[in-house]
Amino acid sequence: MSEAQAETLNFQTEAKQLLQLMIHSLYSNREIFLRELISNASDAIDKLRFQAIEQPDLYGDDSELRIDVTFDQDAKTLCIADNGIGMNRDEVISHLGTIAKSGTAEFLANLTGDQKSDSQLIGQFGVGFYSAFMVAAEVEVRTRSAAGGDGVVWRSSGEDAYTLEAADDLPRGTQVILHLQEDALEFAEDFRLRSIVRKYSDHIGVPVRMVKAEMPAADDEDKDAEKDAAEPELEAVNSAKALWTRSRSDVEDDEYKEFYKHVSHDFDEPLHWSHNKVEGKLEYTSLLYLPKRAPFDLYNREAPKGLKLYVQRVFIMDDAEQFLPLYLRFVKGVIDSNDLPLNVSREILQQDDRVTSIRNAVTKRVLTMLGDMAKKKPEQYQEFWDEFGEVLKEGAGEDFANRETLAKLLRFASTKSEDGAKKTVSLDQYLERKVEDQESIYYLCAETFETASRSPHLEIFKERGVEVIVLFDRIDEWLMSMLTEFEGTPFVDVMRGDVTLPGEAKADEDKDGDDDTEDEHPLIERIKPILDDKVAGVRPSKRLTGSPACLVLSEDAMGIQMRRIMEANGQAMPASKPYFEFNPDHPLVQRLDNEADEDRFGELVEVLFDQASLAEGGSLQDPATYVERLNRLLLDLL
Ligand code: ADP
Ligand code: MG
Repeated sequence: MSEAQAETLNFQTEAKQLLQLMIHSLYSNREIFLRELISNASDAIDKLRFQAIEQPDLYGDDSELRIDVTFDQDAKTLCIADNGIGMNRDEVISHLGTIAKSGTAEFLANLTGDQKSDSQLIGQFGVGFYSAFMVAAEVEVRTRSAAGGDGVVWRSSGEDAYTLEAADDLPRGTQVILHLQEDALEFAEDFRLRSIVRKYSDHIGVPVRMVKAEMPAADDEDKDAEKDAAEPELEAVNSAKALWTRSRSDVEDDEYKEFYKHVSHDFDEPLHWSHNKVEGKLEYTSLLYLPKRAPFDLYNREAPKGLKLYVQRVFIMDDAEQFLPLYLRFVKGVIDSNDLPLNVSREILQQDDRVTSIRNAVTKRVLTMLGDMAKKKPEQYQEFWDEFGEVLKEGAGEDFANRETLAKLLRFASTKSEDGAKKTVSLDQYLERKVEDQESIYYLCAETFETASRSPHLEIFKERGVEVIVLFDRIDEWLMSMLTEFEGTPFVDVMRGDVTLPGEAKADEDKDGDDDTEDEHPLIERIKPILDDKVAGVRPSKRLTGSPACLVLSEDAMGIQMRRIMEANGQAMPASKPYFEFNPDHPLVQRLDNEADEDRFGELVEVLFDQASLAEGGSLQDPATYVERLNRLLLDLL
């Protein structure tokens, strides 16, 4: 008997909220609690095996690592026991009483109270252990750390608090004992449990054992003998072979999917995967998964990322981020190397040439998987792009070695895409539908698709049937500053400088040609003094057909997106002045040309300037004056 008194502690607030959520919103698929508990047991065994590389005596006299699932129908209990790393008192408090994950508050704030969407969210968040409370009225955890010290018994009914008690007679590892709810007694049935274990945990690398099915007894004597046996015989229910070590043709899709849930802690199925054994100078196996949905912390720098690293099938570490570039941080899976030393550390990984080679190969592997998907299953690729496209754009900007491959994977919205803002056009497709003599890939950046698609800058392109790529992600201007061409065709921003349209010669080559008359339009000199402090220049436009005027960025000016980001971060931006372009064929501009009253002329020019910046989606520096001017002009009319 333990002399220690039970001590009551409260769950951390976030843990309490998650528990409530577990108990109330995931009912549809309760059986997955077993997968979660077996997954934890398997992780605990992996950790012990890892520590035992340096300290073999951690095994004591119990080196046959295994997970036992037993039940007692009379007592209505189910027990999942492992002889893994175990936990000491402090570990029990921090692992079972708190949620230490970054982004927990964010996650909780996103809950809506709608069961369906909340249970999806919780799936992404992955609250493994607490899923026990979906089926148990009370959970008891009996655990002793492999590092020594007293054992601990943790008990809770999943409300506000749990109790802790010291226990000195526990074996190494952890037993999780569930006192089943009345409506969950199916989880104390042999057949049901076996089928759940096979369904979800077949890939676990150690035996998951259950009591051997009783053979019908030949006669009464045998039966008695069996009853007397002190220890019931156990047998493995799973195949107990690490999944990635098996050959691809032996593994069923469903097994790959379950394994994904184990390595990723995601409740959802993966979108796609790639499993490869590499032999030669370097020997390793990689199993790489693409998730269906982006995690809520995709943009959180501290969020764990990377692959699970094994060396010769021994688990070494989670989240080995050295095997993937940052822009592939959403990829999950396993690397099992035959070349790295078992005592490899994160520091060593950072400088090891073998790691660099594996990382380059893994990167190519992922990009090939994406390229194949884009070709063979464009709809699935689109699903991927909608979730992770913005992250892949980081790669197109920074990974020089794979830039061409990445550029082919990019998808954009365009003036010719069928479903508007949906980003579905590849650069290859764009080039296929170039018009005659088109030598550039035209694009336009704006805040939103709507602003972009109505921009006056697009008028001439629409009229001539020239496709323009429409960019409105935050990262786009940066991306376009890094990408200058695709397969030899340069990118051209239609909002900048002097755009050359297909079939027209470049303006500067044409300097002495007879087109020059246009540049000497009489309005230029009249408008200039009025807008002098706001613009870099005034000129007749080649891009307008329907609008009277527009603003054009100079070649080296900062784009609007970038500018807004900097300003939002509190950085004062030096004013970069646009060019004011007017459309000499527009009736308003022709009226302007005939206006003799210089005051009215000035007012009209100011109004045209303000309208042009409104049409870009910009805001006016002095909206009140704009309204006053417009009202004066309206009054004249009435
Ligand atoms: P996760 O597995 O995603 O870390 P869980 O909620 O499933 O989250 O488990 C929380 C933590 O509790 C684990 O990270 C681990 O440290 C600890 N834990 C759970 N089960 C066991 C076990 N059987 N043996 C040792 N530690 C465990
Ligand atoms: Mg877990």
